[in-house]
Amino acid sequence: MSLKITTVTPPVELAEGPHWDESTQALYFVDIWKSTIHRYIPESDQYTCTKIHIPGQEEKPVSLIIPVKNEKNKFVISYGADLALITWDGENDPSDYQILATAEQDGKNSTRFNDGKCSPSGVLFAGSMAVDQEKIPNNLGNFYSFKNLNSKLLLKNIGISNGLAWSDDEKLFYYIDSLTYKVEGFDHDSNKAEISNRRTVFDLKQNNIEAFPDGMTIDADGNLWVACYEGSRVLKINPKTGTLLDTISLPTPNITSVAFGGKNLDELYVTSARYETFARNIKEDDTAAGCVFKIIGTGSKGIAGASIDISNISTH
Ligand code: CA
Repeated sequence: MSLKITTVTPPVELAEGPHWDESTQALYFVDIWKSTIHRYIPESDQYTCTKIHIPGQEEKPVSLIIPVKNEKNKFVISYGADLALITWDGENDPSDYQILATAEQDGKNSTRFNDGKCSPSGVLFAGSMAVDQEKIPNNLGNFYSFKNLNSKLLLKNIGISNGLAWSDDEKLFYYIDSLTYKVEGFDHDSNKAEISNRRTVFDLKQNNIEAFPDGMTIDADGNLWVACYEGSRVLKINPKTGTLLDTISLPTPNITSVAFGGKNLDELYVTSARYETFARNIKEDDTAAGCVFKIIGTGSKGIAGASIDISNISTH
């Protein structure tokens, strides 16, 4: 691969959840701890961001932003352990906040949503993790589907619920709990929004890769692209054979997620983290940490992000 890697946005603390929206030709992403949502339009090189603060509520982490299918300027975001509908034109302050669903909790309000994404047919799947960093190893997280916004618990005892991807026929689902150091595969029942037959697709430790697998996307050939947190790289994996096809090195350690975008879906957008709050491993001269990278020349094409289908739900 002859790659051209550039940064396209200013650094933020914990950039996550990149989503390429075909209808607006825009990349959306979040800064989790700052509760901000971001939009980058490659064609005009326009970047905007805004703060989420639901009136009457304390500030909570925002870990995902997904456009609503067939609705202009409507998005579903996470807000702590809630899912909320917002209106945002990409430039002005968001409005019309409406809580849609809540993740099941253990009663102590101890978890929040983390990564989430829609299946090709528009059903949101999202997982959770402990809010308290020290409790993350206790595997307090869960993984849910939200068909018609009905919460269905699919997996328990998750450490850090992260990457999600589906095969284009929706029969297979790929998932990452970062604390397992694995990419796992499942059979996916799109009618029931359920997954089964859990198996290991790729084990980073067995492949001597020292990193936490984080966000993930799938390309048009069915290969997975996996962001490596504390690993300064993106992996390209064939999930059918469990083989590592390629590695892209990046100039900062905390690579958080990936999404293909651009008008031909052949630009790989990669989010990263500065993590100033927890000051873990960023060197002072690391100006790239927290930026979104654009990578041209992978030779692969992706699939646009799936919008959420809530057409059966009354949101008014
Ligand atoms: Ca993540």
